[in-house]
Amino acid sequence: IIRIRNLGKRFGTNRVLNGIDFDVFPGQVVVIIGPSGSGKSTFLRCCNGLEQAEEGDIEICGSALVNQGKMLPDVELNELRKNVGMVFQSFNLFPHLSVLDNICVAPQMLRNLKKTEARAQAVKLLGKVGLAAKAEAMPNSLSGGQKQRVAIARALAMEPLVMLFDEPTSALDPELVGEVLRVMKILAQDGMTMIVVTHEMAFAQEVADVVVVMDGGVIIEAGPPATIFGAPREERTKTFLQSVL
Ligand code: ATP
Ligand code: MG
Repeated sequence: IIRIRNLGKRFGTNRVLNGIDFDVFPGQVVVIIGPSGSGKSTFLRCCNGLEQAEEGDIEICGSALVNQGKMLPDVELNELRKNVGMVFQSFNLFPHLSVLDNICVAPQMLRNLKKTEARAQAVKLLGKVGLAAKAEAMPNSLSGGQKQRVAIARALAMEPLVMLFDEPTSALDPELVGEVLRVMKILAQDGMTMIVVTHEMAFAQEVADVVVVMDGGVIIEAGPPATIFGAPREERTKTFLQSVL
């Protein structure tokens, strides 16, 4: 569903991504781990065109998002982006809109849903993330965990084919992390294709099909969680795991 070949990206003289090759198959859950500054966020952002890749190819659902370092023109980029949902560390909800309206805006504008359709869908999604009772609440009355679950529902409202998560629980108080991970796990069980950058190793262990270890802008190894956590091949993976476990 995502095909990446020889992806490269620099910020000035800083080579942030270097020769990344990677495939994500439908229904797969890929967890990316690695030290700070290793390029995890930049990689995710390249996958939905938020960041301009400079080398290589990214194909999403068979369409070229990046072709030999060239990004799609804006019109097509926006079309392709509808297939890719993204959830950030900071929730970025619209503060002046109710929870329900936060979820309804994009589908009404970009998928041409009627208001009643968008609302019906939003109510269903709020049920799914366990927030049916909060439809009319304003974002600033919610806890961080609740806000993040609204952000997930909002991304799902576009009916994406792939969901990208960049440290979705890093900004949360520890007691709120579980409720967000539970929602992500349900999504995974429903068959959603997901790429998740996280430091939650228990989640990776339990939910990931593939764990990708990044360091210095390259993938140093990738494999099933049992292998990466149980018998890592690379010295750098061992060092990293020792520092976080
Ligand atoms: P973290 O775990 O801290 O989130 P990360 O693995 O997500 O780290 P990135 O945010 O992708 O790492 O950053 C990789 C490198 O790119 C770092 O050296 C960072 O300083 C640099 N970088 C990221 N964004 C920019 C930018 N907008 N301009 C310049 N340099 C950037
Ligand atoms: Mg990051």
